[in-house]
Amino acid sequence: MDWTYSCPHCDAALNPDVSIVLRADFGEKKMLVGLNPQPGNYEVELPPGEGMQPGSRWDFSCPVCDHSLVSELSDELCAIDMSSQGERHRVYFSRIAGEEATFVVSAEGMLTDHGVHRDQYLERMVHRKYMR
Ligand SMILES: [Zn+2]
Repeated sequence: MDWTYSCPHCDAALNPDVSIVLRADFGEKKMLVGLNPQPGNYEVELPPGEGMQPGSRWDFSCPVCDHSLVSELSDELCAIDMSSQGERHRVYFSRIAGEEATFVVSAEGMLTDHGVHRDQYLERMVHRKYMR
């Protein structure tokens, strides 16, 4: 299955190859990270020698337009757009390192949810209209 991810603000493709490339900032630290495109897979590619301290809250932004990807839904979730098999969805994921919570939503509502920490966000996700 393939997934194409894009920035909800400038529409730039975020996974030119396989991984989703995002800018990640934490305090003075700035780097590009690669996220696995499969919802529910929490492998992260980091530059050599870099790490993400579990529990640290990262600011993810679009590497093309610099816009923050923090969602309007929750200060702890980021949102990016995904298209898969011709359908457009929005994917929300936790920006806390080590926290596993991902939600794939469409205009009709939640499609799938993933991760061992999803419960703390689930209620907020269910009671919302998701798309623009
Ligand atoms: Zn952008």
